[in-house]
Amino acid sequence: MTMNVSRRDVLRFTAGGAVGAMMTPAPWKALDDVAIWTQNWSWIPKPPKGPVTMRATACALCPAGCPVQARCIGGLPVSMHAASGGGLCPLGLTGHHLPYHPARVVRPLRLFHDGPGSRRIPVQIDAAVAAAAGAIRGAKASSRTVAVIDTRPGRSVSWGWQRFLATVPRGAYVPVPAREGSRFLSGVDLDSIRTIVSFRAPLAEEWGPPQLRKRLLDRLVNLIQIEPTHSPTAAVAGRWLAAQPGSEAALAMAIASQLHEGTAGPGEGMTPEIASALTGIPAETIAATAREIAQTGPALVVAEEGLGRAVDAAIVELNTLLGHSVVAQTDLLAPFAGEPIAPAHELEVIEDSSIALLLLDMSGGDAPFPWPLVRRKLAPKAIVIALSPFLAGTATHADYIVPTLPYLETLLEIPTPFDSTAARLTISAPLLPPRHAAVDPVQFLRAIARDLPGQWTKSEELMRARVSRIHERGEGNVGEKSVADFASADEMWEGLLAGTPWTGAAAAQTRVSVPHQGADERGAIDGGVVAVNAPLTLVIRTPRDVTASAAVSPVMTKLYRESGLRRSPEVAVVNPATARQLGLAAGRRAKLLIEGGALPVVIATDHAVMPGVVEMTAGPDAIALGERGARGRPGILDVVTADASGSWRTVAARLVEA
Ligand code: SF4
Repeated sequence: MTMNVSRRDVLRFTAGGAVGAMMTPAPWKALDDVAIWTQNWSWIPKPPKGPVTMRATACALCPAGCPVQARCIGGLPVSMHAASGGGLCPLGLTGHHLPYHPARVVRPLRLFHDGPGSRRIPVQIDAAVAAAAGAIRGAKASSRTVAVIDTRPGRSVSWGWQRFLATVPRGAYVPVPAREGSRFLSGVDLDSIRTIVSFRAPLAEEWGPPQLRKRLLDRLVNLIQIEPTHSPTAAVAGRWLAAQPGSEAALAMAIASQLHEGTAGPGEGMTPEIASALTGIPAETIAATAREIAQTGPALVVAEEGLGRAVDAAIVELNTLLGHSVVAQTDLLAPFAGEPIAPAHELEVIEDSSIALLLLDMSGGDAPFPWPLVRRKLAPKAIVIALSPFLAGTATHADYIVPTLPYLETLLEIPTPFDSTAARLTISAPLLPPRHAAVDPVQFLRAIARDLPGQWTKSEELMRARVSRIHERGEGNVGEKSVADFASADEMWEGLLAGTPWTGAAAAQTRVSVPHQGADERGAIDGGVVAVNAPLTLVIRTPRDVTASAAVSPVMTKLYRESGLRRSPEVAVVNPATARQLGLAAGRRAKLLIEGGALPVVIATDHAVMPGVVEMTAGPDAIALGERGARGRPGILDVVTADASGSWRTVAARLVEA
């Protein structure tokens, strides 16, 4: 395939995307919207006056934790910049807009879900506490589960939840699957990698922080992209394999079988010919890809989350075969040693209809996952309580919203990101005073679990306790300064507040044992073939710049709705040939039918999408974009369910006229 787009072009677009977009007429109109907000909404700050200063902190909008400098006028941040060059992503560049977002929750709310959207009434925090405490008592009496879904695992507050759940008979702590395929990457030295085999991971678009993307793509000798659409990442790849969605595990196994040809091992029996029949890729191309990987190593295989257990297992095996595969990342120290904590659970191992109380900790951000997977686990009359700064994203499914403070108004902790081989702790210091009353997650935890041991009562106390333990151990550095050179834990805390992360020793290269594929995974691969044979296959994209935070800046409205740079969530994109076959023209309204339900969509056509595939993007919805009073229209993550292999990014689908 001819490639007219260079890696540098893509990097230019992604790293400086929002800045570039601000220079076009469409996003400039966003300033009009901000002006309209200011005229109609008393919360918006008046244009600040005063001295210009630069203040350092860390961006807490996604787990990457980029160091940032905020240009402030009169103490108010007016623009955000990368502290170490390389740029910020569009979400980070516009992060200072978010405290003023119309979806901001300023008091506890009770939500009633009656049809599309929900009715909301303000309540006292005691009502949410009483509902949670009552549900905990009910769960104990009826042997049901109390669960916490944590969208930013690894924080000291996460430890607090795990500590609490260890005291509840059926307590389940569920960290949301990390992004950027971190389960395949933790502890891998990305700088040593020369070839990346990517199963739908958007490496050139919004995978990890911009600096990492630039560094990686500049250094790679080869990028092999396996994806059903000719995405910007596919456009810069050395090889693009448009495998039938749902056949990725077969392809990974066939590559593995070629890599250890002649010996027993992973992928045994999956010949290029068999894989070719499943993937639609010629057998010679599969064999040539395997040779290429062997010749241009060290190679690493990465994948987008949500492709299912069969793909995960095949990729872990392939990585193991490539020799440097999955290693354990050193965990950050717990705030307090020797206390029992509940282990992490995958959501799918929790019994269906068993959760009596679900706490969604979104105080650090949001994450994209299909809500029907959660709904299936809820018992009848279960209570769902979201701790979130915004009534948007996943929080819209809750029965109660407990308002927490957003990024830039509170301390937030960013644990080791996926691309670090060493343990790392970053503190995002607030640059704005809290504008509205809010509830600290740990205070809420203490209120619903009054007999929990320990004296800690606030998130900051847990963060400081962790820092004290790191200081006591004396290992690692804060920037250039050794921990041993800090006279006290308080002095080290001050160093962290300046936006400089603590970095510990590199992880021990402990290999994680990888089970060979069992019957389940084999079955899941067969399931993929069923999906291939369905009339259409839906593939779902979840761009991080609109899903890592429940609310996004109005500048994003222009990127999504008017500039055409990104797809809106109601748009279903198909190949023109597929549209012709279905009798659907671009711009027409249609209905997408999947196992989980039906969704109204607008058809768009694009030759970049392979025939037989429908591509949809999750978020941002009207609420996330700041449309005041918008009622929640269901998005794709509100209806999609996972198949038998746990895959929700590849789904059998139909498109019919609306
Ligand atoms: S990559 Fe994440 S941490 Fe970095 S600027 Fe973007 S949102 Fe912020």
